[in-house]
Amino acid sequence: MMLNEHCQIECLDCGFRTPYHPLVTTCSHCGGTWLKAVYDYAHLSHALPSRLKERPFDLWRYRELLPVMQPAPELRLSEGGTPLIRALNLGMMLGLANLFMKDERQGPTSSFKDRQAALSISALKTVGVREVVLASTGNVAIAYSAYAARAGIKLWAFLTSLVPAAKMREVALYGTQVIKVTGSYDQAKQVAAEFARQRGIYLDAGARSIANIESMKTIAYEIAEQLGEVLNESAETMEGGQPRWQAPDWYIQAVSGGMGPLGVLKGFREMYEMGWIDKIPKIGVIQVEGCAPMVNAWKQGRDTAIPVQSPRTNIATLATGDPGRTYTLLRNWMLEGSGGAFESVSDEEAYRAIHFLAKMEGMSVEPAAAVACAGLIKLVRSGQIKPHEVVVMNISGHTLPVERAILGEGWSRNVVVSEAIHAGAEEGLLAALSKITIDRFPRIAIVDDHPEARRLIRRILQSQGEYTLYEAASGREAIELAQRERPDLIILDLMMPEIDGFGVIEALQAQPETAEIPIIVVTAKELTPAEKDRLRGHIQSLMQKGDFMSDDLLDEVRALLK
Ligand SMILES: *Cc1c(COP(=O)(O)O)cnc(C)c1O
Ligand SMILES: [Zn+2]
Repeated sequence: MMLNEHCQIECLDCGFRTPYHPLVTTCSHCGGTWLKAVYDYAHLSHALPSRLKERPFDLWRYRELLPVMQPAPELRLSEGGTPLIRALNLGMMLGLANLFMKDERQGPTSSFKDRQAALSISALKTVGVREVVLASTGNVAIAYSAYAARAGIKLWAFLTSLVPAAKMREVALYGTQVIKVTGSYDQAKQVAAEFARQRGIYLDAGARSIANIESMKTIAYEIAEQLGEVLNESAETMEGGQPRWQAPDWYIQAVSGGMGPLGVLKGFREMYEMGWIDKIPKIGVIQVEGCAPMVNAWKQGRDTAIPVQSPRTNIATLATGDPGRTYTLLRNWMLEGSGGAFESVSDEEAYRAIHFLAKMEGMSVEPAAAVACAGLIKLVRSGQIKPHEVVVMNISGHTLPVERAILGEGWSRNVVVSEAIHAGAEEGLLAALSKITIDRFPRIAIVDDHPEARRLIRRILQSQGEYTLYEAASGREAIELAQRERPDLIILDLMMPEIDGFGVIEALQAQPETAEIPIIVVTAKELTPAEKDRLRGHIQSLMQKGDFMSDDLLDEVRALLK
């Protein structure tokens, strides 16, 4: 295990440089407490790419750009190297051709905090640290606990009482001493700091720790490498042997203290400096409405954030009320780069996004990650994210602690087998199964000659409600279907070969049994006044394809089914 001897730390205030040491957190020259790691970028820009070929795709792949060169093998849990997954359905719904999820759930403890824990615990282990104190909103404590357990380091975790009990128990399971602080996260941080000071124990410095920030950087390196592969298949390297990596246009993350985006942005800035990418992405910083000091400050044009004293959110992971200097740094770096956006979403919007991600993409995420997704939806809607842009969003965690709250009652059907068997083997079982009644959900017919378009509407409807869905691929099929199934609602495409949407409407209205079925017309083109006249009075609602965002369509559907 060894530290990177080419890693220097530079004071952000006076520029003084010293070799990296894990326990140095202040500048010996001016006393400044914000330091950053620097490397020999001119050398690495051409020396490193050729070495990458032989290395596994994990966090240590970029070791020359990290403060620790070699972790002890016994510490490792397969950190970093998470997949970049295309979000096809969600992308289609939002009109984004290149939407990706950096799936940080696939780390050892299911959040991107694994990177931080792996690097920081490795660094501390090299200098003989035996005990660590930290304050956490949950995920940092879980990740550090796992690595501390492997390293034989004793961990004291100060958790705000907002942290779900399931997460607290996971922390305790790893052998960490859990101290529940009834109060805000900022207060838990103060208590932890005082405890560490009194006992002389190392306190994790959060965003002021070199190892923490540097670990987050690896997310950026991986994304650039992965995007380069997906989007630039043909060319293997750029001239001069440099990798053909690609930065996204946007990196979107739910934010609490801001360490993630700060580290990720540092990574992209380094790659830009080394000539590996041709732009620095815009950063989408998403906070919860009840705790959005950064968003408030950004929207007011302030370069310092006013702390939120008592956060109002159930999403404990994101409850940092006082981002301190992290916000200012992030803002300045964003403004020096390509900018970005600070946006907030409500807890409810995040919970809805959990459903979108689960039902449209098969991704079960924790509320904090869904905040990023809800923010993405908002940024697309407001036109800040453009259809052609490449977007990567950070997805972490697991829904486990919140599934109960989100699903409510009635999400399962129960069959009691023992009773059934008593009643007499097979018959009893059949009787039990017959009790699994099929509820009568509202019935909706989707009519479109493009299978893609039908699939999109189906996904949107399925993601947010229980419906029985039918599909018809032509006007003729639609008319037959309507007569046979008598759906409660028809979503109808106008432009179809043979019998088009106008023809379907006429046919349905000519028959008393189908004349009353409400119709939402979805069209790909702007209608002429004459066409609009033809529809007037015959349909309930008209929507433009491509910009029918889920909410609009769902609101219409719900209103018409009432
Ligand atoms: C820690 C965490 C955040 C917030 O990250 P910061 O970069 O520290 O603001 C967001 N989402 C998840 C899942 C987290 O674990
Ligand atoms: Zn200094």
